[in-house]
Formats: sequence, structure tokens, C-alpha cells
Amino acid sequence: MRTTRAKYDSPISVATRLAQLIVESQMFTSELALKSNNGFGIKASAPWTGDSVPHVSGEVGGARESEFRKYPSHEASIKDHAEFFTSTPFRQTDKVYGLAIKATNYKDEAKYLAPKFKGDMYSYAGDPNYATKLIDKVERYNLTQYDTKKGNDTMSFPRPKMTDRRKQALGYPGSGAYAKRSVSAIKNIVWHYTATKHEGNGATIIKNHERYWRNTYGWDIGGYHYYIDRQGNIYWNYDLEIVTYGAGRLNPQLMHISCEASSASNYTSAQVKAREALTLWLMSEPLKHLGGQDMRGHKEIPYNSTSCPGYSVAELNQYRKDLSAKLKAGSKPVDPNNPQGMATTPFKDYKEPRLPFDELKKGDTVTLDTNWQWADLTKRQLLASPKYKELLGTKDKISEVIKLDKPGNHSKVAYRLEKYNSIILEEYLEESKRSWELKPVEVETPEEVKQKYEELQEGEYIDNDGVVWVWGKK
Ligand SMILES: [Zn+2]
Repeated sequence: MRTTRAKYDSPISVATRLAQLIVESQMFTSELALKSNNGFGIKASAPWTGDSVPHVSGEVGGARESEFRKYPSHEASIKDHAEFFTSTPFRQTDKVYGLAIKATNYKDEAKYLAPKFKGDMYSYAGDPNYATKLIDKVERYNLTQYDTKKGNDTMSFPRPKMTDRRKQALGYPGSGAYAKRSVSAIKNIVWHYTATKHEGNGATIIKNHERYWRNTYGWDIGGYHYYIDRQGNIYWNYDLEIVTYGAGRLNPQLMHISCEASSASNYTSAQVKAREALTLWLMSEPLKHLGGQDMRGHKEIPYNSTSCPGYSVAELNQYRKDLSAKLKAGSKPVDPNNPQGMATTPFKDYKEPRLPFDELKKGDTVTLDTNWQWADLTKRQLLASPKYKELLGTKDKISEVIKLDKPGNHSKVAYRLEKYNSIILEEYLEESKRSWELKPVEVETPEEVKQKYEELQEGEYIDNDGVVWVWGKK
């Protein structure tokens, strides 16, 4: 890609400044520009002490006369405009041009020069369509070739073909909540494998994974934003703003890609290709604040103990190097507070999504469900019991309710049982989950099913037989 060194340094790219020149004065041909050489519509505001001209301009709320800067030449106007964004400390704050200054591409610059909200007093222009106009000019006149912003040195990669199953993915009904975050909060793209290698239709397989997670762990939401089957087909499960399961407490800063594979050696080449295409596209478009160095294997994420995704750290280093080379990501800005670009601190207010269990009380009869485990609260450990099969489905009585100050899995409460005189987490009792179920939704005709596909509610999904289901309270 050709880049041009700007004659006058500015924190705003040449591409955007040229677009402004076109939008503000049609390249110095507006009435204001003809009488003042002012090509950018800059008013005679402080710290300007030079000449000025009165001019009537269209403002939000009507036309009014103001004083505008008058320059001896077009060049003087271009120079003044280049420096304008940093001409006072206030102009450098996020309230005014700070966000545009920090933007790494022309689209974000345009977005932050336009009003950031209705009635924004400090934007460059009052026109709510200002960003669209600037971006249109940059693209129509191919101004990116003059782009001096580092972020635009990054190669761009096309969005790979993918199946959008966001409306079919495991979601959460009603009262539950999965956390949301802004895309800029994402610090790492995490690679996983499923630790299985199911062949066949990827849409069916990922659905089966989700069923397993739901039934075994009580997850309200799946683990992976993107899933790649053995044929290399990509399935899109969640928007990047949604915090999914995948790697524990750091999830608010992570997004997840998983391949249907069980070891480093049995990834298919189609999967590896698809994963690279997907990762490069993410790093060049929606997650362009990330570079190759920000990819992580699941096992590298703090607080996780796993061999996922099967690669050694040396292999992962090589993948990072390859991604960086392809992205030319050496030019990506590095966060000085976090030069490794590593997710480290969980969000303060982040709580992993939990199944809200029904409250049980002392004396209630309970049934050990299919996945129960004993808990040793002194060690804060779950203990698998050797009597597992024998006790499965048996009944006992609660002799004590114990609130967990640091919940283990999903349970906020544990119960001591009378007969076994042992403590069990609420998630391993049938009765705790009795008001939750997977219910079929009445849909009569194939047309209605088709319509449902278009407008699935949160928590609803359609199985392979076209039956619509919803997770919810009974
Ligand atoms: Zn993993």
C-alpha cells in the first residue's frame, strides 16, 4: 500500500483532512473560501489572533453570522487546519477531538469529528450526517491512498464466508443475563479446540455441544463466538459485544474461536485455513485494535488449566508471528499500560452468567441429579464420589442450608444432607432446577417455523426437526 508523508503533520489523517476540505468548501470554491481562503470552515475562535471575516453559515437551528478565520493563502489554511485539533489543551480532550486524534482509521476519525451525541457542542461540525459525508468522500475519491494514519498500514482481509446462527445459538431466557462489553474492551482472540472430533454437519454438532453445556454445566450461553467444523465451515454464534463462556473470569476481555478437533495433529487443513482467515479478518476489521501478538491459545489465559487448543507455546508463538507478518501488525499501536496486550483484570462488576436455582430449605426432600458431586467446603473443592452410579437419583433430606460467600461453579448455595451427612452444591440437585425447563413452542405450520427463524426470541431455538424450543421458567 502506498502511503504519503503529509507536508503538515497532524494527528488527523490526510485522507480525512482532504475529505473535510471537500465537504467544507468543495476544495476552496465555497463563498467563504473565496473571500477568506478558509477551506475548512474554521471560526475565528481562540487562540486565533489573525484576520477574520464575517460569514453567514448554516448551523443546527438556523443560519447565523459568525467571524471566520481569514488566511493569506490556501496553504496557510491547510497548515492551520492540520494544527487546529491540538491547538489548545481542551481541543485535545475526548470531549472535543481526543477520540478522533486517537482513532486509527478514517472511519473512526469521521465518527468522532461528527457530533458524538445529539446536541454535542464540541464536535467539528454540527451536521449529524457529517461522518457519513466524510467517509463517502474518502471512499469515492480513493483518498485512503493519502492516509497517513498508522492503523491503515494494516492490510485488509475479506470477511470469510460463514453461517450466521446467532438466533439459533444457546441464549438465555428472561431474567437471566449475559454480560455485554464494548468491542474495544476485547484484548485477545482465543483459539480453542472442542477436544472432540465430530464429523458431519457443523450446525448440528455445535448445537449438540450447546445442549451438553446447558445440561451438564447449566450454562446460559455457549462458549464460542465462532465455531469451525471439520470441513472448515465457520459458524457465527454470538456478536462480539456478548461475553460468552470459554475461558472463565477473563471472558469479558476475550473472544473465542473453536475448531472441532481433539489434538494439535488432527486439525484439518481446511480448519486451519478457515481459522486463519477468520482471525485475520477480525484483526483487520471489527477488532482492528488487535494484532497477531494478541492471539492466545486457551491454555495461555490466566486462571485456566487446560491443554486446549492442543498446541505448544512454541507453536502458538509461530502462529502469532505468522498472523503479525500477514497483518503487517508491527505498526499496530501498543497500549503502553499493557504492552503484552494481555487480558489480566476481570471487569469489576462482571459476574459469570448463572442459572438461577430454585431456593430449597431445611427439611426439603431432594434428588441427586445426573451430575452431582460432593463439595468439600473446607478445601473449596468439588469431590467426585465413587458411589456416583449407586446414589444417582436417590433421595435425601436437607439438614442445613449453607450460603457460599465465594460460589464455586454456578451454585450460590450448598446443602448438607441428612442421610449422607454430606454437603452438595445446589446445582447437583434436581429440585433446584425444577422450575426451569426446555419447552417446545407451539408452531403449527412450516410457514410459521420459517417466520420463527426470522424473529426468534432470546432463549428460543429451533432444532433439526423444525421444533421451536425455549428455555424458561415452567
Ligand atoms: Zn478451550
